[in-house]
Amino acid sequence: MTQQILHTKLKENFGFEKFRPNQEDIINGVLSGQDTLAIMPTGGGKSICFQLPALILPGITIVISPLIALMKDQVDSLKANGIQACFINSSQTEGERQFYIESLKANIIKLVYIAPESLSYLDTIFNSLTISLIAIDEAHCISAWGHDFRPAYTNLGYLKNRLPSTPILALTATADKATRKDISGQLNLINPKIFVASFDRKNLSLEVRPALDRVKQIIDFIQEKPNESGIVYCLSRKTTEELAEKLQKIGINAKAYHAGLDNKIRSKTQDEFINDDCQVVCATIAFGMGIDKSNVRWVIHYNLPKNIEGYYQEIGRAGRDGLPSETVLFESYGDVIQLQKFASQGLNAEVQLAKLERMKQYADALSCRRKILLSYFGELVTENCGNCDICKNPPSFFDGTVIAQKALSAIIRLQETEPLPVIIDFLRGSKNTYIYEKEYQNLKTYGVGIDLSWFDWNQYLIQLINLGYCEIAFHQQNKIRLTTLAKKVLFEGEKVQLTIVQKINIDKQEVKEVKSKSNANSLFETLRKLRYEISKEESVPAYVIFSDAALRQMETERPMSDQELLAIDGVGKAKLEKYGDIFIKAIIDFQKSKVVKKKKEATTYKETLELYQNGLSVEEISQERKLGLSTIMSHLAKLYVDGAAIDLNPLISKEEVSQIAEAQIKLESPNVLKPYFDYFEEKIDYGKIRLALAILEKEKTAL
Ligand code: ADP
Ligand code: ZN
Repeated sequence: MTQQILHTKLKENFGFEKFRPNQEDIINGVLSGQDTLAIMPTGGGKSICFQLPALILPGITIVISPLIALMKDQVDSLKANGIQACFINSSQTEGERQFYIESLKANIIKLVYIAPESLSYLDTIFNSLTISLIAIDEAHCISAWGHDFRPAYTNLGYLKNRLPSTPILALTATADKATRKDISGQLNLINPKIFVASFDRKNLSLEVRPALDRVKQIIDFIQEKPNESGIVYCLSRKTTEELAEKLQKIGINAKAYHAGLDNKIRSKTQDEFINDDCQVVCATIAFGMGIDKSNVRWVIHYNLPKNIEGYYQEIGRAGRDGLPSETVLFESYGDVIQLQKFASQGLNAEVQLAKLERMKQYADALSCRRKILLSYFGELVTENCGNCDICKNPPSFFDGTVIAQKALSAIIRLQETEPLPVIIDFLRGSKNTYIYEKEYQNLKTYGVGIDLSWFDWNQYLIQLINLGYCEIAFHQQNKIRLTTLAKKVLFEGEKVQLTIVQKINIDKQEVKEVKSKSNANSLFETLRKLRYEISKEESVPAYVIFSDAALRQMETERPMSDQELLAIDGVGKAKLEKYGDIFIKAIIDFQKSKVVKKKKEATTYKETLELYQNGLSVEEISQERKLGLSTIMSHLAKLYVDGAAIDLNPLISKEEVSQIAEAQIKLESPNVLKPYFDYFEEKIDYGKIRLALAILEKEKTAL
């Protein structure tokens, strides 16, 4: 098959401009009849690897897939692209199944999705079908080593015996070698070609935060992105419910999901999430395996995950469309203790504890997190990623010897019998009942740490634990004990380097307003609404119509003809035909409304200009026009920048302008007004700040 034909097919049928890494090679192998094992991360683009060959090969492609819920979405997506596909499973009536079986016999259908347990439905017709390819999705389910073992998968070995010349393509996101071997052995693959794609998902940002006040942190986080879908993973069922309730209370459209809920409720929540009717799902790890939703924009871990495999799979559910997506992991000392207990009591305790330790090391990392993740999966990277919290905000160290001395002596004074919270209370001179009951207030070092916040002490103590100066006695009520290293600090003058605790509860009010305002009027939002309406009419998930990535590209490219729309990644022939007109119309309407708005704006500026030029003061103009003072000032600023002949001197002094020029250099966000307002301790009002910035901008362009 020539390259050109594959590319044309990719564009025409799926709307994509180019292949992702490995896709083309896998497809070429499959087309030449080669058995193949493809290992790609979640969101890496596995589906195309069998969907595209299915269109080229003469017969039917059977796709074995473990999850009924997923089949429907995949079939919907294929149909939206004008491709004949169906699924057969036990949720259908006998009549429905018969209908699809007839269509298969008539060779109308290119792809059929089926669960391994349901293959028997095809028994009677199996020999009469032309089966060109067998794709086995989530192939790790075959392996008892893997984490999603499905007994019915182990029967699939007979497929190769029955159809020895039909190529098999096994796909999975699970990388480890034992599982790989198991897959190809059990499926009887003949000399399989193995592809391992990079596990790096560059579009996912990585962040770890201390868990203090995590509900508030989560609320702030979600409120900044009012329309973006996300998942919060929690360790316990109870937490999912409590958190969902707290979010609902403040008006966030959130639901809980865990294995203890009724089946109907669970699938309803899942559907609502997929269809953009429910914004946030607070879930245990039971949620997600059956979800192909490409526009999950963020994933939060409310608790520390048990191991890196699970963590990576869960964050992998964000950003399948390739757009930037955020992930945040909350680390708490309490979680570590609880997980350590679980792990030590469960099966395979040693391995589980070791895995948890790696997870903890990741969370406590002081160097690029992505490097650590990828090295866990055996990929060595030399460059820092630039998209994790450590890369963006490298930790800075300071001499924390005195802090360490205070903490370690407090632990001694308490005779190594107390857990972390009591030590902090003791250091900070708390007057709570426990301290008084124990008469700790009479001991030396009580209250020597009053100068630091509870939060800071918590972080410093955790750092000291990580540095090995003290340890948690997990089997003895989590008492904190000293290690032999502590002596060096207390008695031998060893210096301790600590990292500065990052402030997390910064006031994000300003950002929030700006963001939601600009959101609501954007073309993206307009198109998103349109997509949502169509998805309701057609009863398919919104992302099946166009991905977020496609809408974003439409926003920047503003296609206004068929040809221009076809140039968007994700717009193929079928979608152009179905949705082209209506999306192009929406884009043109949006442009028009912008022109009208601009005209209106121009008129309002002109009015202000005339009044000002006729000698009215800002106050008078404000009264005359019934507009706020700061609005009039902003008009004048804009007019001035655009070159209107007006004199701003009466409104602001030279001195004030040079003060603001100085601030401009110092401030971190010199384009936002509030930082100036704060910088001058509210002594220079917003109107003047605007004018000064206008004058400075004009000066710059005049240079
Ligand atoms: P996986 O099964 O590996 O998790 P999918 O096959 O579901 O991944 O693909 C993930 C997303 O990437 C889907 O939204 C899909 O449409 C998109 N995608 C796949 N291949 C390409 C490509 N070559 N160009 C652009 N987007 C792609
Ligand atoms: Zn990094």
